[in-house]
Amino acid sequence: MAFRKKMLYSKKAFFGVPVAKDRERIEQNLREVLRFLGENPDRADLVQTPNRMLDALSFLTRGLREKLDVSTDEGLFEQGGKDLVLLKDIEFVSLCEHHVLPFFGHTHIGYIPDGKIMGISKIAKVVDHFSARLQVQERMTAEIADCLFSVIKPKGLGVVVEAVHLCMVARGVRKKDSKVVTVAWRGDFQENCDQRQELLRMLGCS
Ligand code: ZN
Repeated sequence: MAFRKKMLYSKKAFFGVPVAKDRERIEQNLREVLRFLGENPDRADLVQTPNRMLDALSFLTRGLREKLDVSTDEGLFEQGGKDLVLLKDIEFVSLCEHHVLPFFGHTHIGYIPDGKIMGISKIAKVVDHFSARLQVQERMTAEIADCLFSVIKPKGLGVVVEAVHLCMVARGVRKKDSKVVTVAWRGDFQENCDQRQELLRMLGCS
């Protein structure tokens, strides 16, 4: 836990935050955004806000700059069974690429192994990698599915993402209870309706 905390907060090293010279210029632009909104960026409580905005955006887009190493066998385990493996409720926070507002929720992953299973933490890393960037939910769902399908090489795989989008909740149509659900099927799941139904039933979606 201590290590994870250190990773989260040593952001300059970990999230590839722009170097000092660029930061100054970008923070100046963010001060202009605050001024455009009717604020006084020199107000004492706002002086550090551009700096914090940049840190927050850097954190939320860290997936763009980190390397995802899933090509090795590390994190993959031999598994003889052919029964459905289901991982539910993997949390994520992403940024809508149209409004740069968060969308967040849960990813569920189900697959039928063909000799190999993947460690849970590695699967969570894949979800983190493709969510921590400017995204649309449909593409994120497909990218997670393609990545896992190519590494685990299962018989079939399904990814279901349920998310709340702040651009729907807090602006525009303001539908606070709406959830967006996207699915991606790979391998046998593309053909086999019964397998898809079983997965959705286990998720409580059918
Ligand atoms: Zn949006």
